[in-house]
Amino acid sequence: MILIQAIGKIEGKILEILKNCISKILNTKVIISSQFLDIPENAYNPLRGQYNSTKILLFLKSVIKEDFDRILGITDADLYAPGLNFVFGEAESPGKFAIISLYRLKHPDKKIFIERMLKEAIHELGHAFGLAHCSNPSCVMYFSNSIIDTDKKTYMFCKKCLKKLKLAN
Ligand SMILES: [Zn+2]
Ligand SMILES: [Zn+2]
Repeated sequence: MILIQAIGKIEGKILEILKNCISKILNTKVIISSQFLDIPENAYNPLRGQYNSTKILLFLKSVIKEDFDRILGITDADLYAPGLNFVFGEAESPGKFAIISLYRLKHPDKKIFIERMLKEAIHELGHAFGLAHCSNPSCVMYFSNSIIDTDKKTYMFCKKCLKKLKLAN
């Protein structure tokens, strides 16, 4: 079972769509946490105007003690990791915890925004299941250097990654 945990305010409808799609793609039960969590202020870097994604991941680990197969945090905040201008998300690999940010996925066309969110969510969960980046540009595990890469890839695993995923469960 996978838990989706909003960090800060996220529209309920968005979480519902994410839940249904993850459930279908990963063929598992997904639930949305009813717990309200604020973005931890110690993750904020005032010089960058961004939040440290690793610190948010650690924060999630410290507050969610229930036993789920995987936990996906979702936030509207702009995330970074040291050495990178920004990150779409981060995950323990392999591990239980993953997070994604919606900040850089926004698009006037809601369908494109939802697809981007789905791709990044499945990508980070893939990492949590132990998968590494894939060289197939249409595979969800392809590394997105920019949003253009995200738009080009699909939210599905290629055959090779799917095989690894099945062994990882
Ligand atoms: Zn990745
Ligand atoms: Zn692949």
